[in-house]
Amino acid sequence: MNTEVTRQVAALRETVARLHRELTRYDLVAWTSGNVSARVPGQELMVIKPSGVDYDDLTAETMVVCDLNGTVVDGTSPSSDTAAHAYVYRAMPEVGGVVHTHSGYATAWAARGEAIPCWLTAQADEFGGEIPIGPFALIGGDDIGKGIVSTLSGHRSPAVLMRNHGVFTIGKDARAAVKAAVMCEDVARTAHLARALGQPVPIAPADIDSLYDRYQNVYGQRPPAH
Ligand SMILES: [Zn+2]
Repeated sequence: MNTEVTRQVAALRETVARLHRELTRYDLVAWTSGNVSARVPGQELMVIKPSGVDYDDLTAETMVVCDLNGTVVDGTSPSSDTAAHAYVYRAMPEVGGVVHTHSGYATAWAARGEAIPCWLTAQADEFGGEIPIGPFALIGGDDIGKGIVSTLSGHRSPAVLMRNHGVFTIGKDARAAVKAAVMCEDVARTAHLARALGQPVPIAPADIDSLYDRYQNVYGQRPPAH
């Protein structure tokens, strides 16, 4: 690795370690389940959580650097979901971060194999419509990665509910993928509560389009105009 790549990897080790604290802060994970990874921009490398390490013990130094086939370049055993993350980075060059959780409400929808319909403006903003269901896939090999990519390619949603399993999210960087995981659970919880109380009211597709466009293109802090 040249000096610039070494510097990038060191910074991403810090970022990825720190972002794991968001998974516990928002109560998205139990024990050592769940993981965050980041692509090293411009390199065939990613930084990912080690396997089976307590969240309290995750530091920049314990993060694992792998190539995009999931082979370890620097560190110990990577997350058991490394093959799925690697597959996504190989297939979707625009993706810079991937997150996986079994967050409770979202995974309850996954257990029923049911996509989350768009009943909330916040969901239209963030996901552009329903949060889709991906196929059932066993861990090991490329089946989970293939299921994520086939479901999310050409879909507005940055989150997929892998059937009987849990949530995978993608983003332009690891922080965006973590945000999608947090928002996915928030939407899944409210949608669950809404339906428990009766039949939620759908949002018209044109309104979903309008909300999505505004949130993705207008909302938030803009760089100051000069
Ligand atoms: Zn899992």
